[in-house]
Amino acid sequence: MERIRDYKVIVIGSGPAGCTAALYLSRANLIPLVLEGIQPGGQLTITTDVENYPGFPEGILGPKLMDLMRQQAERFGAVFKMESVEKVNFRTHPFEVVTDSRVYECAAVIIASGASAMQLGLPTEKHLQGFGVSYCATCDGFFFKGKEIVVVGGGDSAMEEATFLTKFASKVTVIHRRDQLRASRIMQERARANEKIDFILNTAVEEVVGTREGGITALKLRDLTNQATREFKTQGLFVAIGHTPNTAPYVGQLDLDERGYISLPHHNSTVTNVDGVFACGDVVDHIYRQAITAAGSGCMAALDCEKWMTHRRITERWDLPVGEEDRI
Ligand code: NAP
Repeated sequence: MERIRDYKVIVIGSGPAGCTAALYLSRANLIPLVLEGIQPGGQLTITTDVENYPGFPEGILGPKLMDLMRQQAERFGAVFKMESVEKVNFRTHPFEVVTDSRVYECAAVIIASGASAMQLGLPTEKHLQGFGVSYCATCDGFFFKGKEIVVVGGGDSAMEEATFLTKFASKVTVIHRRDQLRASRIMQERARANEKIDFILNTAVEEVVGTREGGITALKLRDLTNQATREFKTQGLFVAIGHTPNTAPYVGQLDLDERGYISLPHHNSTVTNVDGVFACGDVVDHIYRQAITAAGSGCMAALDCEKWMTHRRITERWDLPVGEEDRI
């Protein structure tokens, strides 16, 4: 396989965290390579309107926002390649980052590979994603003012999303595949006490009915106790069945937590347990998961990385603050 040694820093992932890291690195003259992954632009490219990213008072389309972030990093020299990382070797230095077609050697790596919202796997769900089907109540709840909507899932996320969505929706129905919820008692009680929330248990969603133009009109449901099917009228579907961090290439190479997210050993730092490897965005964050928090942590990763490279004399910088040497 072709071996490339042209880049001192590689950023893995091209969502808000990766693009922001690339922007800061390139403005520090480090000219990173960004390996974009299979979904260039990340999760925002599968949503429509984004109204909570500061700086866009009228809102902006998710794909447009990511295009602008990428252009901004490219303007200062960042190089984007549509390649997916298959494995890494962090036990050697320079590090090796392996895609399907090349092996890259580099001094430092910033991992911003994100997380993926788990999907039900229905063709109609995919088709109507961003047109009534959502995976983020914080992002999209506002668009469902006065509407009747469904949340699928029985865990804490589903309870939290359902409770949050009652601020906007006139009615929220939680649909869960078993007769018992997985969520913690307190979250269940909070949701059950909310007059706007109903529960349908032992039930699977089999199809989302609607069009991109007109939105969702109904769901086809199957009662799992007797296999009976029926149509349930609704105007929105929030899928809250968990997230999976995109960390498969790092198993055995980096410390991951029990859920598979990359562990960061120091508070307020993007340093991982491997010297020279930094991580930011949703691949480390299962709590906030917002574009703006991901972008902020991408900035932190670039600054941490730049400082580390200066200490290692991989690059030179004249304005290293006195005393900052100890932090990394
Ligand atoms: P989770 O606990 O894994 O729950 C996922 C839920 O989705 C389960 O009820 C599961 O059903 C259901 N599910 C999974 N795959 C499905 C499918 N294909 N079709 C239909 N239903 C499916 O995930 P989570 O709720 O995202 O929570 C993840 C972690 O974050 C948990 O540790 C949770 O406590 C924590 N969390 C905490 C808070 C909080 O404290 N504020 C908020 C959110 C999340 P089964 O029950 O049948 O498996």
